[in-house]
Order: sequence, then C-alpha cells, then structure tokens
Amino acid sequence: MKKILVTGGAGFLGSYICEKLLDKGYGVTALDMSDGEKIAHLLSHKNFRFVQGSVCDLSLMKHEMKDIAMIFHLAAIADPLKYVTNPLNVMEVDLLAGINIFKIAAENKTKVIFSSTSEVFGRNKNVPWKEDDDRVLGATNIHRWCYSTSKAACEHYLFALGKQEKLPFVIYRFFNVYGPKLDDLGHGRVMPIFLKQFLNGEDITVHGDGKQTRTFIYVDDAIDAIIKLAFCKRAENNVFNIGTSKEYTMHELAKFMKKAGGFKSEIKFIEHKKVFGEGYEDIPRRIPDTKKIRQYIDWKPKTSFEKGLKKTIEYYRKKKGW
Ligand code: UDP
Repeated sequence: MKKILVTGGAGFLGSYICEKLLDKGYGVTALDMSDGEKIAHLLSHKNFRFVQGSVCDLSLMKHEMKDIAMIFHLAAIADPLKYVTNPLNVMEVDLLAGINIFKIAAENKTKVIFSSTSEVFGRNKNVPWKEDDDRVLGATNIHRWCYSTSKAACEHYLFALGKQEKLPFVIYRFFNVYGPKLDDLGHGRVMPIFLKQFLNGEDITVHGDGKQTRTFIYVDDAIDAIIKLAFCKRAENNVFNIGTSKEYTMHELAKFMKKAGGFKSEIKFIEHKKVFGEGYEDIPRRIPDTKKIRQYIDWKPKTSFEKGLKKTIEYYRKKKGW
C-alpha cells in the first residue's frame, strides 16, 4: 500500500485530508504537535497512524519521510495575532521547517503538496488576484509580513527544486477556508473569534471600520480541490488559488452570523492597534481569480455561504454544549 504523510494532519484542513486519503485506500500518517483531538475518530483505522511531533524536528522528519509516495505539508502557524506576537516561531515553523522538508523530499524524489496562502499577495489593491499577480508587501521590520514572506519563500524554493532537481509539487493558496473544526473557539481566525463572542452573549469585535472584505470557502469545497489537484499529473509544478468570489465586509459577516445563528450580541468596532499593537496593516480586500484551477480540474465550490455558516455554527454550538 502506498503511504502518504500529512504534516499538520491533526489540524483543521489536515484532518479532512487524512480522511479523504484513507477513503482512497492510502496508508496515512498524520504528524502534528496537537493532542490529536481532530483525528481521534481515525485512530482505530487500520491504515492510519498519528505521530505527535514537530515539523521542526529534523531527525523525526527524515524518519517519517522515508518510503512515502507523497507529502501534504500543511503544518504552519496561521494566526494573524501570532505574526506580530511571535514572528520567530512563525518563521521557524513556516519557513525553516518548510525548506528542510522540501530538501528531504527532493533527495527522496517525493511529490510535495504545499499549502500556501492568499497572504502572499499582501495588500495588492488590484483584486481579483490571478496566481501570477504581483506581491505587494510592507517593510521587513513590520512583523505582520513574516507569514506572507515565509510562505512565499517556500513557494520560491519549490519552484527552484522543480526546475533544478525535477521535484514534482503542487502549491495551492487558500482564501479564508472555514467550517467545523477551524480554530478553537475564541482563537485564530475571525469566525471562531466571533462565534465565541456570540455564544457567550458578548459584544462582537469588528476590527477597524469593518469595511475590509474577505471571500470565504467552505472546507468540503477546499478539500475537494486539494485532493483533485494533488492527483492531477498536469497540475504538477504549478500554483493555484482556491477560493470563492463573493466578498463580505467584516461588518456584513458579523451581521450575517448574527442572523444565521439567531444571536443577540451587539456588534461593536475596535481599532486594529488595540488588538495587534502599532504597525499592523490589515488587508483591505482579498479576492481570488479562480480561472486557472478550472482549466486543470473539474471543480467548483458547491456550498452556499448560508449553508456552510449554519453547519459551522452548529458544530461550535454542540462543542460548547450550547
Ligand atoms: N477580524 C475582526 N474581528 C476579530 C477578528 C478578525 O474584525 O475579532 C477581521 C480581521 O481584522 C480581518 C478579517 O477579520 O480583517 C479576517 O481576519 P482573520 O483573522 O480571519 O484572517 P485574515 O483573513 O486577515 O488572514
């Protein structure tokens, strides 16, 4: 049986990817720092292994990357607050560990499926962004950009290994994936933060004037794209946007969630600097152009925002016993 390693395999997206790969008949190892709560239901599967460990542990990575057919590299620090509070950790995990993993993959000739991010485009104002559009970032003493830069450097490294060492890889860039199992309530991305506030009846903290926009893609649709891309020969050594095109302002998102969940919280506005300190720059608009991916695989997002949001709210409600 062919074996696949999923770093960050007990994280939000990783846990779904492990499920899909097991369904496809692969032997799957999930490597993750976490306690494995998100993959607890897979532990009894005969083709599944969970290794609790860090991608920064080079000898562990060398060991786990022996005799695998493919590696999905998802392990990363992807929490905007951490970009400014612990940039060193962001770069050690997202940049240095990534480069080491790709080096081992190139030595072993193992195909790499790399999770990158829409953050690589920075604050380029010309939305929607095509895969080869410009990256517009701030200065290097602004910690906020360390995540974007780490992921982009990893992309560069993969393109170089593809050119010079014939390493096969696929890179995809997510545009705000959401769904059950995202982050812990109150942490990480905007939805679990708002949901904790809604479920506790607290005020909702919309950052700035709330006019900044995001597009959101439901996890099932994102996973469908990743799996199709990973096994599409023609997609090799390419980068793809994965997202939807309907924009929501963060104020609209708060109102939408309030309605979808029948919540009572009041929506309030809080300055970015009160949350992130000085020097944080938010991305005003973030929209993908997804023409490219459709030229390679038969894919389109199927879950409406209403439906996806309801499922997400239900999940967190149950988890909190609400
Ligand atoms: N946001 C907000 N209130 C919060 C958390 C986030 O208004 O309590 C905003 C954040 O400033 C950003 C957007 O929601 O404009 C999306 O933030 P997220 O942390 O999900 O990640 P990003 O898309 O910025 O990477």
